[in-house]
Amino acid sequence: MKFIIIGAGFAGSVLAERIANTLNKKVLIIEKRNHIGGNCYDYKDRNGIIVHKYGPHLFHTDFKEVWDYLSNFTDWSIYHHKVLAFIDGKKVPIPFNFNTIEQLFPSTFAKKLQEKLLNRYQYGSKVPILELKKEKDEDLKFLANFVYEKVFKNYTAKQWNMKPEDIDPEVTARVPVFIGKDDRYFNDKYQAVPKEGYTKIFKNMLNNKNIKLLLNTDFKEVLQVDFEKKKIYFFGNEFKGKLIFTGMIDELFDYRFGKLPYRSLNLKFETIEKEYFQEVATVNYPNDYDFTRITEFKHIHPTKADKTTILKEYPKEYKENDIPYYPVFTKENRQKYNKYKELVQNFEQIIPIGRLADYRYYNMDDIIKRALDIFEEKIR
Ligand code: UDP
Repeated sequence: MKFIIIGAGFAGSVLAERIANTLNKKVLIIEKRNHIGGNCYDYKDRNGIIVHKYGPHLFHTDFKEVWDYLSNFTDWSIYHHKVLAFIDGKKVPIPFNFNTIEQLFPSTFAKKLQEKLLNRYQYGSKVPILELKKEKDEDLKFLANFVYEKVFKNYTAKQWNMKPEDIDPEVTARVPVFIGKDDRYFNDKYQAVPKEGYTKIFKNMLNNKNIKLLLNTDFKEVLQVDFEKKKIYFFGNEFKGKLIFTGMIDELFDYRFGKLPYRSLNLKFETIEKEYFQEVATVNYPNDYDFTRITEFKHIHPTKADKTTILKEYPKEYKENDIPYYPVFTKENRQKYNKYKELVQNFEQIIPIGRLADYRYYNMDDIIKRALDIFEEKIR
């Protein structure tokens, strides 16, 4: 055995597939959960609707390479994600765009705002809220404060327990103000849902005689790492191959520089006794309730059923045994992560990758791209 991979999410599964298929080498995947797919895992629930166990996952990418690669393992249903936000008693399109302006403000003022935005920014561009906040013009300042207060401030407080300006600007820039009338949540060239769900993609990727999968196994039960001598032991025997690690980097190093903070979620699924619950797949509630958003999966995977399944997301602080959904991006936490990164870089046998091991807020396509790149650079 030349390769051991910890974790069967996208990072681990793409690398396993590449190693098994193109190098014809044997791989062992060790996965703590009782299923493959990491947080992308989905299944058909009792209403016959495909739901995402760990929260909504919408595939979108501008990387043709990633799209082509995944297309080897699935057919697609074209789907463009739409999100509304409940603001001042109305459900309006998010990202905040020219349609949102028209729905919230009197028409003459809406026109004025649109004209000023068009004078200042290129049509079709994306302006992060923290950039818009720097505007000096009175009307644009009004707009920036409105969006900041009504869309970002309370949502970010719920999601991160922080002010928008205290978290890395990359985070709020994910949902910009859009200069134009495109109501879609993403503008990427490729946007779709896997026809039979994400889990099927993983099954297809891992269906290879070179890949062995050990589910329900915490890596610490079978692997010991001697960081001083830089040796890895698998069931007590020295392992000399590559260890591809997609778990929490701080856990791998026994938290020697302290714990890295993550945010977690309580996810509550509900069956609603009617055909549809809401207008689009996701409705954000920045200013009302304890949850951040409601997702109705029928909009993502159209299904004929009298009932519908919705999901409410309640953010919370990550504690031991919770699921570490999001790394908390701040300067201080990045510095701590960099210490772990330095250690792991000096341990040639270990290849860290993924949202948890790289402590990065990756989208699915970012992880797949990174796995394909790492395969070419470090493994092939
Ligand atoms: N955000 C917000 N209000 C919204 C939507 C997003 O304040 O209505 C901010 C919030 O800080 C959130 C970030 O933008 O964490 C990124 O949002 P995204 O929808 O990309 O989050 P994800 O789907 O990854 O949870």
